[in-house]
Amino acid sequence: MANNLVNKRDVDFVLYEQISIMDLTKKELYSIYSKDEFDMVIEQAIKFAENELEPCNVDGDRIGASWKDGEVTLPASFYNPLKMFGEQGWVAACEDLELGGQGLPHVVFTACNEVFHAANTAINLYPSLAHGTFTMVNKYGTEDQKRKYLEKLLSYEWAGTMNLTEPGAGSSLAHIQTKAEKIDDIHYRIKGQKIFITGGEHDAHPNIIHPVLARIEGDPPGIKGISIFLVPKYHVQDDETIGDRNDITCAGIEHKMGLRGSATCQMSFGDNDNCIGEILGKPGQGVQIMFLIMNEERLNVGVQSVGLASTAYLNALQYAKERLQGVDIRKKGSSSEQVAIINHPDVRRNLLDMKSRLEGLRALIYYTAYLLDLEKAETNEDKKRDCFNMVEFFTPICKAYSSEVAAGICSNAVNVFGGYGYCQDYPVEQYFRDQKITALYEGTNAIHANDLLTRKMLLGKGKVLRDVLAEIDVAVKTASEIEELKQMADMVGVARKHFEQAANFLLEQMSGEKAMESFQKALPMLMITGDVILGWMHLWQCTVAYTSLTKIFKDGGVVTGDEKVEVIRDNQDAAFYQGKIVSSSYYINENMKTIESRVQIIMSGNDAPLRMFEESF
Ligand SMILES: Cc1cc2nc3c(=O)[nH]c(=O)nc-3n(C[C@H](O)[C@H](O)[C@H](O)COP(=O)(O)OP(=O)(O)OC[C@H]3O[C@@H](n4cnc5c(N)ncnc54)[C@H](O)[C@@H]3O)c2cc1C
Repeated sequence: MANNLVNKRDVDFVLYEQISIMDLTKKELYSIYSKDEFDMVIEQAIKFAENELEPCNVDGDRIGASWKDGEVTLPASFYNPLKMFGEQGWVAACEDLELGGQGLPHVVFTACNEVFHAANTAINLYPSLAHGTFTMVNKYGTEDQKRKYLEKLLSYEWAGTMNLTEPGAGSSLAHIQTKAEKIDDIHYRIKGQKIFITGGEHDAHPNIIHPVLARIEGDPPGIKGISIFLVPKYHVQDDETIGDRNDITCAGIEHKMGLRGSATCQMSFGDNDNCIGEILGKPGQGVQIMFLIMNEERLNVGVQSVGLASTAYLNALQYAKERLQGVDIRKKGSSSEQVAIINHPDVRRNLLDMKSRLEGLRALIYYTAYLLDLEKAETNEDKKRDCFNMVEFFTPICKAYSSEVAAGICSNAVNVFGGYGYCQDYPVEQYFRDQKITALYEGTNAIHANDLLTRKMLLGKGKVLRDVLAEIDVAVKTASEIEELKQMADMVGVARKHFEQAANFLLEQMSGEKAMESFQKALPMLMITGDVILGWMHLWQCTVAYTSLTKIFKDGGVVTGDEKVEVIRDNQDAAFYQGKIVSSSYYINENMKTIESRVQIIMSGNDAPLRMFEESF
């Protein structure tokens, strides 16, 4: 039976028909896998999400995490599913076999992760942080640290976190105040406050390993002086068993708008001057090492947005088919029979808008995960670097653009439900609240927009941007060869040219006296970038779907319009492809023509926000 979490047919389409992930299995690294095995893993993820994660999603929201005397308790229904994340091997899914993982491609895990987020995004954050901590220790840990921590984190016996934010250092990590006093080459005494720490304290695991950013006494101010330390809640003894409690306290948890099942903790390290941590990597490498987990988490935030948008859309679709309200506009005056609201033009437009944006985002996120796999499997160093750089370029789009677009989808899902959408009778109001965080954490969207403009657009001296543009050109050329898709291809091609023009304009301005003007346009530019990339994704999808639908017609000897309608009504694949073509054509028609005017606005030099005096706001 179809679930209300993800459209499995669309997931399969992106994986196997658009991106053709089976090509990965031609690479040695992934040659152990077959399509049946990928399917089995995704089916298992859906089952886990439906049977274990979704049933406790409302508990997460209504009961939430609670704090008493330094201890954090989760809703009772959370504990077993959290254990199952470890037992079913989800934390280890993409890790190498010799490390105890399953060697699964990221793109396949991304499909699983989407359904986990759709089912219960709050619970899904806990295991992702154990994996992030594992990643850092695996890459930068000493042999001793690897022996002590890796297996426990990967099996999800112990939890992990990421401790960056402080009351005075949020977007600006350079201002971190937490201190580390050297005891010996490995051990340091940590002292400081961290806030907003996801999963900083709870009783679901016997130990929590905190990677903490801190400044070694005497090290320079700024990013260069920041190091990273592994600070376990309970000390780990040489025989790998748990020892005494470290000097770490949880001073409270935040009372949040959403994501209430995820404990957001205020952490205090070293209140009694006895918090001991081990340095990870070398002094001064803290931010570089933490970026490993941050990049992983940024892509995870993109998946979180897609998962929540997916379930919001599917719930709205179901409601629109069931809710009777109003008469068919064409029969007004002649009939008083109420129709399902999906028959109203505005509801249809809203649903198609949600569907097309969601499916574009899913394609973007899966494609980025696929590039990560290519990078990992590639043996040619140049190609490896190209894939890595492309992932770097897409990361702010996956994180920030997806979160902005998914917010619109979740909000529109509430609209489809009318007044009920605002009430707890239906799940969409929770999705709307849970989703909002994606614009804020892992760097606010404004910070990612700055990153896109100042770093990602310039990667490889602009080569990466040129590579992205060249990929769009390929999709445009391929689609142009199909007469019926030519107009759409032209629209994407023109939008892509305007996008390039705006990028060059802002980059040039950035290096001159008007840099402030570029910065105030960074977020609009990020949104243009995302829209054009989604136009590309849709053109690519439309070309694949059109080719497949044409083949169905040809194989069935279907020629006339009526015959085609009959096939679409009878054949689920044909209906899917037709839906995909219409969805892509809707997206491209609605969005590509807006790019030119938005680029003109960017280039018009409207510096009003900069001319305002603070007193005048
Ligand atoms: C639920 C939740 C979970 C979290 N989990 C974690 C976690 O596990 N670990 C962790 O370390 N942190 C975590 N955080 C913290 C989160 O990453 C920060 O809140 C975020 O980075 C923003 O920092 P801030 O809140 O201090 O906002 P500020 O940095 O004060 O930003 C305030 C506003 O100013 C803007 N701004 C600031 N600087 C600039 C700039 N240079 N250019 C343009 N605009 C700017 C921002 O975009 C924002 O709109 C979490 C936060 C929440 C709410």
